[in-house]
Amino acid sequence: MALIVQKYGGTSVGNPERIKNVAQRVLATQQAGNQVVVVVSAMSGVTDSLIKLAKEVHAEPPEREMDVLLATGEQTTIALLAMALQGLGAKAASLTGAQAGIVTDGLHTKAKIANITPKRVHELLDSGHAVIIAGFQGETPEGHITTLGRGGSDLSAIAIAAAVKADVCQIYTDVDGVYTADPRIIPDAKKILEISYDEMLEMAALGSKVMQARSVEFAKKFNVVFEVRSSFNNNPGTIVKAETQKMEDVVIRGVAVDKKQAKVTIAGVPDKPGIAAKVFKTIADAHINIDVIVQNVSANGTTDISFTVGDTDAAKSVKVLQPVVKDIGAREVTATGEIAKLSVVGIGMRSHPGVAAKMFETLAGNSINIGMISTSEIKISVIIALADAEKAARAIHDAFGLAGK
Ligand code: ADP
Ligand code: ASP
Ligand code: MG
Repeated sequence: MALIVQKYGGTSVGNPERIKNVAQRVLATQQAGNQVVVVVSAMSGVTDSLIKLAKEVHAEPPEREMDVLLATGEQTTIALLAMALQGLGAKAASLTGAQAGIVTDGLHTKAKIANITPKRVHELLDSGHAVIIAGFQGETPEGHITTLGRGGSDLSAIAIAAAVKADVCQIYTDVDGVYTADPRIIPDAKKILEISYDEMLEMAALGSKVMQARSVEFAKKFNVVFEVRSSFNNNPGTIVKAETQKMEDVVIRGVAVDKKQAKVTIAGVPDKPGIAAKVFKTIADAHINIDVIVQNVSANGTTDISFTVGDTDAAKSVKVLQPVVKDIGAREVTATGEIAKLSVVGIGMRSHPGVAAKMFETLAGNSINIGMISTSEIKISVIIALADAEKAARAIHDAFGLAGK
């Protein structure tokens, strides 16, 4: 008998028919002689509508109350799935994150899991139940409801798999695996059979939202091997696991596109020591994460400093930098959301030179201008115009020979 953790995302539980489909799958897994723990997301669109609703009553909804609100999305799904299973004659019980023993810190809307005590989960499993747990949520030691950041049900599933020492962890979604690029943008992208934690982490962090980046980080830390697969068919999916030597033979594992980026530019900055420190301290104090930074020296002794942020932080960045601009005697600060980040990822890059050259040549060959560049050992990212993003992604995907047959 194996202990299997299955996570079903929003689309997979998006309507009553789909919830019944998931119930059939869970029942079949149970009937094959396994113990099953199921982690579910809110039905698709529910979290977004709850956020919208909150904004209609408060321009900047208080985060503690936001978590109380958002947690209802997943709570609806656990009850419906447990009912659907019982309707099929199965033994099943639902648990909220707190009831499942998921304890987090108090950072509302992006809490971190501190520990999991899955006592009730084991009791229910031992009495023959499928245990249906609400993803994306936990509670603080003081009993406040928290959520784990967008896409956080992935993290719940992987953390629970680690806590109950599951034999198998399956992430069911609306695609049958991790592809060499988002199949919605690049229809001839190819399914990847095996990918290392580091590559999956980079792809997720660089815009491939098939997995939440934090969940992959957690999986790597606790060595949770997991499979990404579809809830709509029985195709084998993608195994995400520790790096093997063979994996380095592939130069580029995949291409990621992130369209939710903005570029902030401070123009006419006097070229003196200490200015960059002032700018970035202001940004850090406002809890804004920055990504790529570029500084250009102009002929007349002033510089332009540009950096990228998530597009939801663009207006805030400009606001907090206005006083700094005055203070340091710069000309102006502006922001544009008309940019995208395009990245290639692969651990094979460490041992195969020439990846950057090929990427830049391909972009040049397609008349796509590169605004900024950033690299690490296993990825190269460029900032380009938003309007060029999909064309550029297709060209790079082709140039590295990633397309399927
Ligand atoms: P869920 O609701 O199941 O968590 P998500 O919408 O969060 O599902 O993630 C699945 C989506 O991720 C797919 O529909 C696909 O468009 C997108 N995606 C982005 N990059 C990739 C990739 N490299 N491989 C597969 N899917 C990807
Ligand atoms: N419902 C949450 C979201 O939409 C968590 C998840 O689906 O993983 O972000
Ligand atoms: Mg998701």
